[in-house]
Amino acid sequence: MTETQYLSPKTIDEAVNLYSKNQGQSKILAGGTDLLVQIRSGVLSPETIIDIKNIKEISEIKNNGEGSFTIGAAVSGASLEENEEFKDYWPGVLEALRLIGSEQIQGRASLGGNLCNASPAGDSVPALIASGATANVQGPNGKRNLPVEEIHAGPGKTNLKNDEILINFDFPTKEQGSADAYLRMIPRTEMDIAVVGCAVNITMDEDTCINARVALGAVAPTAVLVNEAAKLLIGTKLDNDVIEKAAKCCEDACNPINDKRGTIFYRKRVSGVLFKRALKIAVERAKR
Ligand SMILES: Cc1cc2nc3c(=O)[nH]c(=O)nc-3n(C[C@H](O)[C@H](O)[C@H](O)COP(=O)(O)OP(=O)(O)OC[C@H]3O[C@@H](n4cnc5c(N)ncnc54)[C@H](O)[C@@H]3O)c2cc1C
Repeated sequence: MTETQYLSPKTIDEAVNLYSKNQGQSKILAGGTDLLVQIRSGVLSPETIIDIKNIKEISEIKNNGEGSFTIGAAVSGASLEENEEFKDYWPGVLEALRLIGSEQIQGRASLGGNLCNASPAGDSVPALIASGATANVQGPNGKRNLPVEEIHAGPGKTNLKNDEILINFDFPTKEQGSADAYLRMIPRTEMDIAVVGCAVNITMDEDTCINARVALGAVAPTAVLVNEAAKLLIGTKLDNDVIEKAAKCCEDACNPINDKRGTIFYRKRVSGVLFKRALKIAVERAKR
């Protein structure tokens, strides 16, 4: 059995160079909470592991002001949780990260790893999508900036090229009167993956909704941005009738699987319910 080589580059260029040289044979390591499980269970056996945690840009949290942050792909949920400024602006993103595994997992699990693992049930993904965050990726042919909703291609698959590394996320400036929220449904009380996850990011001008983003997780091969629901909300005072119609849009946007955690019918129904609850929380926060 050949031994896996561990490399720990200190710069993005070095990491990109190493990764592109060993295309297909190497894996990027952030917190390792998915990667190491996959290696130990024999699903993966990379020749090289490239640890990106010692690269400044990939591990730092930068506050650009007014809710705009640049968050390194390898920043863990626990590190972000300790950032008081981020907490004030993006409580919904933190709600999602707080649900990932246990405290021990959250100390390692990164935003970038949660996205690049491409599980349809990744909790931070709908929250990132609802926030309007974009992802900066870099490969030997240069840099790209993609909306988070364009990263997933299907279960376990991303639209990153074989030689591209996710560097960091740009969170947009927070509009006045806006707030986000994330809720998920799991069949057990501890340590399970989402049957449905729903994130809402809403902007209120007094009682009128002037902007909205709604995203669902675990109900389709990739997380879903539900533009139809957002369109219904915008320009209204969020009367019950509008909310019910938007909840129906969420149900219709689902293309879920039947499995031991939930049936197709159940997942669809729960997505509408979670949407209504997450919306209520986001609106309450936005009006504070
Ligand atoms: C006990 C347990 C409970 C869990 N519970 C949950 C849960 O409730 N909800 C949930 O969403 N997840 C859960 N997970 C999954 C896991 O913790 C997350 O997916 C985690 O966020 C992955 O981040 P990481 O830093 O550990 O990634 P890693 O394991 O280091 O990497 C994951 C994958 O992404 C790739 N990758 C990582 N970073 C980059 C990058 N910057 N550029 C390109 N590719 C990259 C890696 O090569 C690998 O393929 C759980 C895991 C465990 C072990």
